[in-house]
Amino acid sequence: MDYDVLILGGGMIGCAVAYELSKYNLNIAVIEKDYDIGSDAALINTATIYDGLECTDTISSSLIRKGNLMFDEYVEKFNVPFKRVGSLYIAKDENQKKYIEDMYSRAKEKNINEVKLLNRDESKRIEPNISDDVIKSLYIPNTGVVCAYDLALAYGEIAFDNGVKFKLEEEVLNIEKMSKGFKVETTRNKFTCKIVINTTSEKELGKELNTDKIEEGRKNNLKYFVLNKKYDSLYSNIIFDIHSSERRYIRPTMDGKIIGAFSTEKSVNYDMVIDKLSSLIGKIDGHKIKMVLDWSLYDEPVVIDDSLSEKGYLNIRAKHFGKVTMTPAIGEIVCKMVVNNFNCILKKDFIDKRREYYRFKDLSNNERNNLIKVDNKYGKVICLCEGVTEGEIVDAIRRPLGARTVEGVRRRTNSGLGSCRGAYCNEVISEILARETNKPITDIVKNTKNSKVALSRIKEFDTM
Ligand SMILES: Cc1cc2nc3c(=O)[nH]c(=O)nc-3n(C[C@H](O)[C@H](O)[C@H](O)COP(=O)(O)OP(=O)(O)OC[C@H]3O[C@@H](n4cnc5c(N)ncnc54)[C@H](O)[C@@H]3O)c2cc1C
Repeated sequence: MDYDVLILGGGMIGCAVAYELSKYNLNIAVIEKDYDIGSDAALINTATIYDGLECTDTISSSLIRKGNLMFDEYVEKFNVPFKRVGSLYIAKDENQKKYIEDMYSRAKEKNINEVKLLNRDESKRIEPNISDDVIKSLYIPNTGVVCAYDLALAYGEIAFDNGVKFKLEEEVLNIEKMSKGFKVETTRNKFTCKIVINTTSEKELGKELNTDKIEEGRKNNLKYFVLNKKYDSLYSNIIFDIHSSERRYIRPTMDGKIIGAFSTEKSVNYDMVIDKLSSLIGKIDGHKIKMVLDWSLYDEPVVIDDSLSEKGYLNIRAKHFGKVTMTPAIGEIVCKMVVNNFNCILKKDFIDKRREYYRFKDLSNNERNNLIKVDNKYGKVICLCEGVTEGEIVDAIRRPLGARTVEGVRRRTNSGLGSCRGAYCNEVISEILARETNKPITDIVKNTKNSKVALSRIKEFDTM
């Protein structure tokens, strides 16, 4: 057999499973079709850590709750930015009141006692700026925000340092059950392995091996408005305003910005979001919006199809708005399933630590000077808006599973996420990528194969 375990998909879940299994003496590879790992984590690198009360399906809700409780341990070990921030679900009419009272009942059933139902005055004491027509609210102190991409990277980098092979830009085409183990065919190779863990959520891939039925969930269109400093101190909790077919919320990012978000199954446009968010923050002046981002967000019940676990196939399916929160729980559960069914021995030399990295703008002047003495690339600021240095960009490329695209650098360093949106630094980052990966600039891409940053040379310059 080429491998003991093949993990299909290098998203957040694939990396978490790789990390957990890399603690054991197993020969493991992750196969990912894109240039980078964890690319479904939101580009703004902040996700809400939910409490599980919003979901009515039992599996998703309990995975979220379990994941939430595991977060502090993981982020501390991995040095991933995370903070606990409470949530306030507000009710302005009878429907919303019923919605939050149902959430409260679910909390009581699960013995989650820290959750509180508040009247208007109590709500106002917690958040003085919520609108006067709030009649009731549900306060959950146990939610939080995390740098989701850093979490995926930490899982991936530690798994890599503990011997997991990452096969990027390689698409899985077919999985075939053999008398012993599996044959996995990709765009580049044919592998054999004892165990396949499919985290791609691709409905067609390995369809014949699944036993559970896939339930179709809801797909929502999501728009994020990243707001400017004027809104920074408006709220100290995450404020949710949930209606039957839409969600509006205001949330802090890990780097202190404020996001206004709106999602619905219908199509969403800019004016609609301005209008909908006005119930939470008043009418937004277009000049106060730093960035607008569009995504699809899903709400499918999560399925861990372990019916074949004794034969070696595990499928983790579903796209879900709380999957970052579930990640530590899913990683641990899948690892236990493998360890319980196969003969796995813990490694004695497992390194449970992510390699050091520096955020120049967060350092004191003394620390900055010391760093520049060691590597003068930290003395050259490339992204002026976010204060990102050449040293950080080079480190993002040279690290284990380093960035290979402009977006990969952006996600790892925050470069290009300031008010100029990379107008100045994207070009310099492309040059650094070309230099560090020893490629012509015409081979450097923004994120996907067809997104070249320079189509062709028009003249032979000395640089570029
Ligand atoms: C805008 C946005 C906001 C979100 N906010 C939150 C939040 O606030 N809180 C929260 O808890 N969660 C949140 N989520 C959810 C969370 O970020 C994602 O669900 C999570 O990152 C998904 O991880 P995954 O590993 O399950 O899936 P993916 O990241 O999609 O991983 C699957 C991987 O499989 C690869 N793949 C697919 N087919 C193949 C193939 N044939 N061969 C090889 N590779 C293949 C894909 O390229 C992909 O990398 C958000 C998601 C989005 C998009």
